[in-house]
Amino acid sequence: MTAEASVETGLVHCPAPGCECLCVHPVGVEVNSGGVITDVDHEGTRITKGKADGRGVTILVRFVCEWGHASLLRFHFHKGSTEFEIVPTSDPETYELKPTIWRD
Ligand SMILES: [Zn+2]
Repeated sequence: MTAEASVETGLVHCPAPGCECLCVHPVGVEVNSGGVITDVDHEGTRITKGKADGRGVTILVRFVCEWGHASLLRFHFHKGSTEFEIVPTSDPETYELKPTIWRD
């Protein structure tokens, strides 16, 4: 599943090969603004100091589908343009099967 197809339907699809599940939960958001990193997850909001990611802000939205596949939607601003991608991930730092940020 490509990011473009996900945008076309208006729903986030799990990008894991062979899955394409529509039951995808947002489990975290990270904004890296010149090395000031704001993390939001089900436990709350934390601000830490890290390294800048290139020359513009990076915004990561982490998802987990109901089959347990982790994926990442990444926006990166550079020289007046914003790139984005949605990719499955098994990166130990992002592959965390956390609960949904919030739901009733
Ligand atoms: Zn999946």
